Amino acid sequence: MSAKIIIKKGREKPIIQQHPWIFSGAIEKIEGSPTPGDIVTVVAQNGRFLARGYWNPKSQIQVRILTWQDEPVDEDWWRRTLARAIAGRAPLNIVADRYSASVAYRLVNAESDYLPGLVVDRYQDWLVLQSLTLGVEVHKEMIGNILAELVKPAGIYERSDVDVRGKEGLRAVTGSLWGEVPLPLIPIDEAVRFYVDVQHGHKTGFYLDQRINRQIMFDLLTSEISGHCRVLNLFSYTGGFGLTALGFGDVHAVNVDSSLEALELAEKSISLNPFRQGHCNETWEFIQADAFDYLHDAVERGEQFDVVVCDPPKFAHNKQQVERAARGYKDLNLNAFKLIRPGGFLMTFSCSGAISADLFQKIVFGALADSGRQAQIIRQLGPGEDHPVALTFPEGAYLKGLLLRVY
Ligand code: SAH
Repeated sequence: MSAKIIIKKGREKPIIQQHPWIFSGAIEKIEGSPTPGDIVTVVAQNGRFLARGYWNPKSQIQVRILTWQDEPVDEDWWRRTLARAIAGRAPLNIVADRYSASVAYRLVNAESDYLPGLVVDRYQDWLVLQSLTLGVEVHKEMIGNILAELVKPAGIYERSDVDVRGKEGLRAVTGSLWGEVPLPLIPIDEAVRFYVDVQHGHKTGFYLDQRINRQIMFDLLTSEISGHCRVLNLFSYTGGFGLTALGFGDVHAVNVDSSLEALELAEKSISLNPFRQGHCNETWEFIQADAFDYLHDAVERGEQFDVVVCDPPKFAHNKQQVERAARGYKDLNLNAFKLIRPGGFLMTFSCSGAISADLFQKIVFGALADSGRQAQIIRQLGPGEDHPVALTFPEGAYLKGLLLRVY
């Protein structure tokens, strides 16, 4: 018998509406003596079954719900739920399996795949797993074995070195979880090819959430740009948008990032592609700089670009930081507008969960007003289909962006 978490009267509604988090303040009492990480049963005061999930008394979020049905959460449950998440990537899985292409995409998107605290990304023949919570931590060997059975990767590598684990009382863990250790640099295919360092790179090695937007940018260049094109890729990381632009051919791509390691890996990825500096007007630069300073100086120099991509790191980590973050986004976008030739494009993003798509649009509007330019929304942007957001979990919608035509 699993322990029972009894919910305070009047606090059942979000649980019934299938929000996956139960905060300590909603809990009346606990019956039984669960061990942290155990599966517990959540009930209303009258004893009515509400949900089943895992429990961690050290976390503000004491229970994360795994199921709203009165069913056992056993190995078979984990297998079915993982299999469902994997099946949800069917088109991507088929490409990967049929052509053994070097694809990279997300297989499991935590709460939004009804597997709170668990992220699994696929890079070619390897999986990279992030365990963000104690409930996943205590089940991770079993999860690794099930993934090995379902996906048949060469190996599963763990990158549980994220700050949020601290809130769960967990320390960082990295290393091989199952099978072979991944190649130091895994080549992957998108519109162009990239090296990914899954052992040391940001997140699980690559910004897979931007995959769809790199493709949208490639399609934009193909359909909208004739002749030579200058692309500015701000916060380039390992060159995602900049190398994708080079795939278009007649392009000068300027990549700016503060991280030397990221820029060095971007340069290495150039060698995976048939790009030749100077050939067909293909040219590129990797500039280690603070993007705010670079923008300021580029405006002073009177530079002009056909396309500017602005994909900064998370500026607002919580609600208190929203105002300051908004000033940062406004400053960046104001200078970005000034650098775009009339008829050019701005692709601008925020990955701050605390800033809604609506607020982000208002901030960009504020920047536009100050720039004296005109802009039209061509597309609202978000992550691709391998990063679904459960409708019951709006917190999952952290990445938002706008593709604008600027006059
Ligand atoms: N667009 C990228 C992902 C960007 S992630 C892609 O598609 O892969 C954000 C990047 O911003 C990181 O690489 C980080 O090193 C960089 N960064 C953070 N602060 C910065 C700053 N002030 N100036 C320049 N780069 C910065």
